[in-house]
Amino acid sequence: MAKKANPLLTLGCLLLLGLIGGAVSLGQKNPIAGVGLGIIAVGTLVLIGYALRPRRCDICGNVLQRTSYTWTIQNEKKRVCPHCNQSLARKKSKAAMSQFR
Ligand SMILES: [Zn+2]
Repeated sequence: MAKKANPLLTLGCLLLLGLIGGAVSLGQKNPIAGVGLGIIAVGTLVLIGYALRPRRCDICGNVLQRTSYTWTIQNEKKRVCPHCNQSLARKKSKAAMSQFR
């Protein structure tokens, strides 16, 4: 089974490679510009790391694995883990059921 690549990661890697390559070739001609581009490359790396940081469940704080669920609670979008999704769904159906009684 082919592993699905993260498009963000692929794009980030390509961008970073281009930036590093540019920094090296530019650094030979213009060291100051090369250093500047190098700093941009490092900044991009930090941004990629930030974008790929593990998401945490907004309710219990557990690191979200592949599956996460989005709930709108009090007009706020929340990402929750399957466990909290289950308990939320149970609460919601309980509340819905009580309207019919
Ligand atoms: Zn949770």
